[in-house]
Amino acid sequence: MPIYLDSAATTPVCPAAAQAAFDTMTQGFGNPSSGYPLGRAAALRLEADRAVVARALGCLPEELFFTSCGTEGNNWAIRAAVELNKRKGKHIVTTAIEHAAVLEPMRALAAQGYEITYLKPDRTGHIDPAQVAAALREDTILVSMMLVNNELGTILPVKETAQAIQAARCPALLHVDAVQGFLKVSFTPKELGADFLTISGHKIMAPKGVGALYIRKGLKVKPLLSGGGQERGLRSGTEPTPQIAALAAAVAAWGPGNQEKIRAVKDHTAGLLSGMEGVELISPGDAPHILALSLVGYPSQPVVRALGDKGICVSAGSACHRGKPSHVFAALGLPPKVLMGVLRVSFSPLTTMEEGEAFVRALGEVRETLVAR
Ligand code: PLP
Repeated sequence: MPIYLDSAATTPVCPAAAQAAFDTMTQGFGNPSSGYPLGRAAALRLEADRAVVARALGCLPEELFFTSCGTEGNNWAIRAAVELNKRKGKHIVTTAIEHAAVLEPMRALAAQGYEITYLKPDRTGHIDPAQVAAALREDTILVSMMLVNNELGTILPVKETAQAIQAARCPALLHVDAVQGFLKVSFTPKELGADFLTISGHKIMAPKGVGALYIRKGLKVKPLLSGGGQERGLRSGTEPTPQIAALAAAVAAWGPGNQEKIRAVKDHTAGLLSGMEGVELISPGDAPHILALSLVGYPSQPVVRALGDKGICVSAGSACHRGKPSHVFAALGLPPKVLMGVLRVSFSPLTTMEEGEAFVRALGEVRETLVAR
């Protein structure tokens, strides 16, 4: 098995989640809408699973709607907020370092005549809350801000943004992409002041193909999918009970000490890197699991490949960019030599200190080979 240091891209499924999916696929496979015992049992299990995820998130079960992924949750929330506020304005605030699953819907809205303000981060990837307050207008209908940036691990000022919206008395609804934050940092949607909040299963050792959107109680959102009326009429389609069971099992299996455990490995790795010649740590990475660095002057793709040949998986920024320069690192205004060498290393509860050390050793070897050329 390779040394896997790309947990912000995706994670392996934990045994409890795989077992829950297997059991639900082979035994508790009834359709939750069916009226006989097998179906009724599936419906009960579905609601029990919803309660588990809701408890971990700190919301009511009826505020949680299962989706297929984080991308779906983000698209749905943005569309729903714009629809809810369609008579109140056409201005939206977001940040320049959001995931493509927010930026692309924004691009589509801009093409429809919405005005989008993109807040810029400072050199360390942080957004100044004063910038948010200054951007709000009386026709601002939505603010979409991620909780944890997926390439830098920085925490964005979501709570302060909710306060600024209140103080500005503008109609803006607040959407939070918490795909990288869920279980990694402690929060509840209520504490953050979120109206919508997105999570995704495959970042927390559940399978791909499942996520959830928190919709604050009382918001009268239009259905995303119409049909059989599942998910309280808002997202029709037979519920993917194996994925949902696995999501709940992964949440339940997430240990209370995981945040500290992950952070200890990250800090140890960062400590070793900080003494290394030619390496620059780009972000302090407030969240426990993401570390952004640069092998200054060496293009990251060949470095990622060379590390891969040594059995080490890291990313050249977000896995979603497929070789294109990352808009997140570009937004930091890094010197070109630092920008070209960016790497993202990300950790899970399974990552060991030794794996962090092996990465640092391998990076040193790769650098030596490149310097010798
Ligand atoms: N938002 C953030 C911050 C992410 O990191 C990701 C995935 O990398 C997504 C959204 C998209 O989630 P999914 O892959 O479940 O669609």
